[in-house]
Amino acid sequence: MYKIKTVSELQSVLKQVQNQGKQIGFVPTMGALHEGHLSLVKQAKDECDYVVVSVFVNPNQFNDPKDLEKYPRDIDRDSELLSTVHCDLLFAPGIEDIYPEEDTRKFEFGALETVMEGRYRPGHFNGVAQVVSRLFDYCNPDKAYFGLKDFQQVAIIQDMAEQLNCTVEIIACPIIREDDGLAMSSRNVRLTQEQRKNAPVIAKTLFDSCNFVSKMSVEELRNHVMHEINLTDEFKVEYFEIVDGKTLQGVDNWEDCNYIVGCIAVFVGEVRLIDNVIYKKR
Ligand code: AMP
Repeated sequence: MYKIKTVSELQSVLKQVQNQGKQIGFVPTMGALHEGHLSLVKQAKDECDYVVVSVFVNPNQFNDPKDLEKYPRDIDRDSELLSTVHCDLLFAPGIEDIYPEEDTRKFEFGALETVMEGRYRPGHFNGVAQVVSRLFDYCNPDKAYFGLKDFQQVAIIQDMAEQLNCTVEIIACPIIREDDGLAMSSRNVRLTQEQRKNAPVIAKTLFDSCNFVSKMSVEELRNHVMHEINLTDEFKVEYFEIVDGKTLQGVDNWEDCNYIVGCIAVFVGEVRLIDNVIYKKR
């Protein structure tokens, strides 16, 4: 596996790869890798000839400086894990490589960014779009892989790729969970033992709530989920929205559309976790 830091080295290697007619798959990450990330790499390996993974903790997408400072980092472990899944190239740039000067671009995602993560983390998706559009430019991939754990992010990236006329195909991949249901996240390592023990309540409540779709109104189910999770010590739901899976706008009735998803953000002490569940997809 190549390990590369600078954009110029990256581009020179990828030029040769492209000249050989190989399809490039790209997985952008912020490191502190886990099985969720590796599942994206494995899918990319299955579908492409050459797989590039980037590890870059992008300061522009953190609205909370404390979250940025505490974000876990371990590039040596990341590198070892990527070797085990036969990643071809690890791109681990520094801030100066990605942002030689400040990125002042403003992206517009309309209603997609006024809800959920966009509402509670102002500037977050603009920072995501800044870094992902740059990484797409540098890697020029045929396919790029994103996890549905960040459900809204997938919609934003698809919209961005259309706006910028990117030729890259955006592939949305399923959520990978721990055995007890907790969605894997780099932030999970920041949970205390007690918080980690209780953390499966988020996924469990979401999964259980699927059984109530025929018995409760959207509003009742929403309140039920928030109430159940808030009962756990140190758990505070920031939002739980039941939305149209395409437009991401809230729905009032289960009949409103054919694709309905429940997206949640929960503070567990200081650690903010997100998850989602599909209620309906036809
Ligand atoms: P991050 O390093 O958190 O920016 O995540 C990099 C990519 O991995 C994003 O596309 C995430 O959606 C994806 N990802 C993170 N956690 C999971 C998970 N548990 N299952 C599937 N994909 C994930």
